[in-house]
Amino acid sequence: MQIACRACRRPLNRIDHPGGRQSWVHALGQQEDGTHEPQPVLTDPDYRCDLCNDEPVTSLLVVSGTVRITPISMSDGPWALCSTCTELITANKWQRLLNHVTTRFRGQGVHLFPHLIADIRRLHGQLRRLAVGPPVPLATNPDPHTPGPEQETPAPESPSGPV
Ligand SMILES: [Zn+2]
Ligand SMILES: [Zn+2]
Repeated sequence: MQIACRACRRPLNRIDHPGGRQSWVHALGQQEDGTHEPQPVLTDPDYRCDLCNDEPVTSLLVVSGTVRITPISMSDGPWALCSTCTELITANKWQRLLNHVTTRFRGQGVHLFPHLIADIRRLHGQLRRLAVGPPVPLATNPDPHTPGPEQETPAPESPSGPV
């Protein structure tokens, strides 16, 4: 459960205002932003890659602590990742990750001002520092609340005995 928008079910990012007031915003590059105001509710969000906005999401990156996304907005995670971002983070290829994310954003029509690219680079740096481990693959069943009647145990792909 995390804070997501009631209208589009996308996870929202938090803005802490002086005096303790909080507000919530759609993440960067979300096509829903601009069509409606964010409506924060605590729910199971409909994930989209939190780095490049691609779908479907294949893993979650768990971080310890709050990640600052822009000078004013932040997220307590976890961070949902598509297969490409999962692969690049698992392989520790952060420069390629930045290229991938900026290419995707441009393709989505987001105008990437230099300060925005700097924000994205800083964001990736924080994820790198704060990740508690490699991305954790999501279960193939998209809805954890309705498990099938029988859970098949996948056969191990490699022998577990001594090599
Ligand atoms: Zn929304
Ligand atoms: Zn991605």
